[in-house]
Amino acid sequence: MSAPPPDAHATPTPELLQALKDAVGEKGWSDDPRDMAPHLVDQRGLYHGATALMLRPATVEEVADCVRLCAEARVPIVPQGGNTGLVGGAVPFEHGGEILLCLSRMNRIRELDAVNHTMTAEAGCILETVQTAARDAERYFPLSLGAQGSCQIGGNMATNAGGCAVLRYGHMRELVLGIEAVLPDGRIYKGLKSLRKDNSGYDLNQLLIGSEGTLGIITAGVLKLFPPPVERHTAFAGVASPQAALDLFSRARETLGDAVTAFELMPRIALDFVLAHIPGTRDPLAAPQPFYVLCEATATRRDSALADALHALLETAMDDGLVGDATVAAGETQASALWKLRESVPEAQKHEGGSIKHDISVPIAALPAFMDRACERVTALIPGVRVVAFGHVGDGNIHFNLSQPKDAEREAFLARWDEASRMVHDTVVEMNGSISAEHGIGRLKREELVRLADPLELEQMRAIKRALDPHNIMNPGKLVLPG
Ligand SMILES: Cc1cc2nc3c(=O)[nH]c(=O)nc-3n(C[C@H](O)[C@H](O)[C@H](O)COP(=O)(O)OP(=O)(O)OC[C@H]3O[C@@H](n4cnc5c(N)ncnc54)[C@H](O)[C@@H]3O)c2cc1C
Repeated sequence: MSAPPPDAHATPTPELLQALKDAVGEKGWSDDPRDMAPHLVDQRGLYHGATALMLRPATVEEVADCVRLCAEARVPIVPQGGNTGLVGGAVPFEHGGEILLCLSRMNRIRELDAVNHTMTAEAGCILETVQTAARDAERYFPLSLGAQGSCQIGGNMATNAGGCAVLRYGHMRELVLGIEAVLPDGRIYKGLKSLRKDNSGYDLNQLLIGSEGTLGIITAGVLKLFPPPVERHTAFAGVASPQAALDLFSRARETLGDAVTAFELMPRIALDFVLAHIPGTRDPLAAPQPFYVLCEATATRRDSALADALHALLETAMDDGLVGDATVAAGETQASALWKLRESVPEAQKHEGGSIKHDISVPIAALPAFMDRACERVTALIPGVRVVAFGHVGDGNIHFNLSQPKDAEREAFLARWDEASRMVHDTVVEMNGSISAEHGIGRLKREELVRLADPLELEQMRAIKRALDPHNIMNPGKLVLPG
């Protein structure tokens, strides 16, 4: 991986480190290598960073003091949530000259307004805690993803997280009404409004959402809540191809309408990996199918006749030869078992050697053509490569992952990461897609962003970065590189 960009940054002096420690108090910092170690490596082990000091402020005022001190000293800061991001955004660079600021102690739910259907949560709240708090108040917070037991709501905002229910409820951009954040000069932006309608100018909240810690440190957000689903029906269907999956998706939306909450795709090879490596899993269908669709439909009222409609959809699709075989979960336990098959794919893939991962999206109708073209190209590039392309097909989002050929050498395969990714990303761009549907740009894709983004868009992104962070101290070298 390439070295960090040159910047006019200062290295932290002993005086600055002491001032930062004083700002957060005894419980708010650590420089013990054992404490810091898990925070200095990313989820995939691609990046190993260093820092002289890890801060854990407990209040927005403490965050503001820390940022102000760093800004005055021109020392960069890296905000970190649950460190579950998959693009190296939350880990400092190897040179050790950045301060790491973790939000984990800012973990209070400040308010839950059941009438307004909103919750004000601090950035360090774990996503699962937010979901539970909503449920306890007979409300529903729909963001749901594999890392929900450890990712933080601040990280979810900073990465505009998506997940499994985007189809119905949208991603974080659609789930956040207000934000509180510390800007790169240490001032506090107090945008915690809980309004559904607010047309009073540029939207700083939306700038901060998806900014990956490069425009400020999000300290709290007002989240939208919904009536909880009271019916949930989960089906697992075998189909011949991505095109067949798409045809089924169209029919599902025509017959079930907005009740379709999730529509996921996985190929047989992904199921084979799961069955081989994840204990307690079994094939829910009698015979192997080339691809599988996991479709979830939910309703917020009982007697919705939803179960009948889902069964009818699948029966007709089987009669028409669109679906090879299908099953509908008979209750929560069976539904969880079906979801486990889908959610275990990344874990199962780890047991099959090295993998080169992509998180792309294309317009939904272009998905089958993308899959064909990209598979053909990567197979020509790396004969024997195993394409494990799965994901949120209802959002046009595919994790186009490549597992090493069976008898290949792991390091030799991984050495071809850039070459393979360029090929996949070029195919995405040909189809008007995005090289990052969910995980962000971080450090992993920053050069690809420069290579592939529209020059005008890139220029405007750089202008925004310069306007808000003129000294480039907020997570520099991530997302958007200076021009
Ligand atoms: C098993 C697994 C499944 C996943 N599934 C999905 C999925 O379905 N959909 C999806 O979108 N993502 C998914 N992810 C990726 C990841 O969980 C999300 O990107 C998540 O939103 C990151 O949150 P975090 O708290 O871990 O952030 P971190 O990893 O700590 O940080 C991510 C970025 O945000 C910045 N940041 C963090 N907190 C703040 C803050 N408070 N203020 C400003 N900047 C901040 C960091 O500097 C970094 O650039 C998955 C990850 C794993 C490991």
